[in-house]
Amino acid sequence: MEEPIVIAIDGTSASGKSTNARLVARALGFVYVDTGAMYRTLAWYCLKNGVDVHDPRAVARACRRWKTELRCVDGQVRLLVDGYYPEKEIRTAEVSAAVPHVAAVPAVRQWMKRKQRECIRFGNLVMEGRDIGTNVFPETEFKYFLDASLEERSRRRAAEGIQENLAARDQRDSQRAVAPLMVPLGARVINNSQMTPEQTSALILEDIRQRLAARQKARSAS
Ligand code: C5P
Repeated sequence: MEEPIVIAIDGTSASGKSTNARLVARALGFVYVDTGAMYRTLAWYCLKNGVDVHDPRAVARACRRWKTELRCVDGQVRLLVDGYYPEKEIRTAEVSAAVPHVAAVPAVRQWMKRKQRECIRFGNLVMEGRDIGTNVFPETEFKYFLDASLEERSRRRAAEGIQENLAARDQRDSQRAVAPLMVPLGARVINNSQMTPEQTSALILEDIRQRLAARQKARSAS
């Protein structure tokens, strides 16, 4: 059987990863995975249960013990905790501020990588995050890195009604010791400050189709 295909979309906060990953997944009929939502879910779980997010050992312990389940609903992977999917709760400012601390804990990153790789059982994937091309699926040939100016990214978040210090979160994500935010080797970097999501996703789709066609050609030649 053919190995499932993984499209890795990494990038800075508010660079359009979610919007574009959804558009690409829909166009290709692939399953969409938002790995940021998984880290947010752990941050939310810690806050709710009084676990100090600045205490790496306490966070690692919570991550070892929480009861989770991966489910694919309407072409999208969800991480459920105790059977519950905290879709809205993970988008608060409090969770956004807590999540880089939780995400810097090595045991958490190990756990997340394992769960994220498990998603392959749902089929071909479009997975977005910060370390998908570098750490979770480094073997994929489909790697994209999105970025936009800080001004434009802050404007996008403000338009969603969210005021957040994006630069501080990106700095934490880039400076952590394990699997920091960085451009994966061989990734196509797209600065979409001046582009619409339709233009950005069209660029990604065109690149994917070219690579798939080249793959097909190489296979039929061998
Ligand atoms: O993408 P989103 O803004 O929802 O991600 C929230 C946070 O989760 C990031 O700022 C980062 O700290 C963490 N994250 C990560 N690695 C990923 C995805 C998200 O460290 N692959």
